[in-house]
Amino acid sequence: MTAQLLNGKQLAADIRSRLKEKIAGFAAAPGLAVILVGNDPASEIYIRAKQKACAEIGIRAEAFHLPENTSQAELTHLINRLNNTPEINGILVQLPLPRHLNEKEILLAVAPEKDVDGFHPYNAGSIIQKRAGAFAPCTPKGILRLLDTTGKDLNGLNAVVVGRSQIVGMPAAHLLLNRNCTVTITHSHTQNLQKICQTADILIAALGKPEFITGEYIKPGSIVIDVGINRTENGLKGDVNFAEAAKIASYITPVPGGVGPMTIAMLLENTCEAFLKQHRS
Ligand code: NDP
Repeated sequence: MTAQLLNGKQLAADIRSRLKEKIAGFAAAPGLAVILVGNDPASEIYIRAKQKACAEIGIRAEAFHLPENTSQAELTHLINRLNNTPEINGILVQLPLPRHLNEKEILLAVAPEKDVDGFHPYNAGSIIQKRAGAFAPCTPKGILRLLDTTGKDLNGLNAVVVGRSQIVGMPAAHLLLNRNCTVTITHSHTQNLQKICQTADILIAALGKPEFITGEYIKPGSIVIDVGINRTENGLKGDVNFAEAAKIASYITPVPGGVGPMTIAMLLENTCEAFLKQHRS
């Protein structure tokens, strides 16, 4: 292996410990409302991990576990109540929601200043317009932090993002563009994906297909960020074939231990920022 590991687990631990010190100096504990509708096993695992991470650094996570048949009106009512609860600084609605619920409308109901996931259109648009103080979505924000640990100047680098979801691909592309990368966004209709990826100084793989990105996709010396979390018969796999890519790239994130821990660390950071903003105003 030639590539250096971008150790998200370690970086996330450092960030969490800095946040813990910071929170110890706050007048009150920041509050995060964590809403889960239904019994999706993967969502339950994510929620528990987020609650544990909150507790460890002094954020008060309040869980709202609602039944599968919760109506749009009931969920909206809860969010409105939390929007108006001063002790709650951040609101997280675990996705995906059950199919009968309108996800876009639910995300719109969260007050932008409590939208610590960064999914509200106000926050999404603010990234595009480079408005200061908006919440960036946690996974893309964590990706940028990992890139910064390489010490490389991102200015002018070619970045290729594979995947255009609202929670990962698109915001990652905008954050990279804001750092003056030349960004190509690719998706399931893209032609010649392999050729496009071969131009990437920074390759962000966020397509949700285990080990889809093989060695042939990788530009020698590039930085490869593997966002994928795919549960397979052979265990947890990223979207990148790690063994092949690591021989060619100069930096690479592992799965697990790369982007995943950074996503949670950025949620904690956004919650702290929400607390501070709400206490300043
Ligand atoms: P989505 O399913 O919402 O989006 C996948 C994207 O990949 C779509 O834009 C899709 O294109 C594109 N795509 C699918 N197949 C191909 C292909 N063959 N070639 C090129 N593009 C393709 O997934 P998410 O963005 O939510 O998540 C992506 C991955 O990241 C998943 O494995 C997920 O589990 C993981 N994830 C990890 C997180 C972490 O913290 N590490 C956090 C969030 C997600 P189109 O738009 O045309 O359909």
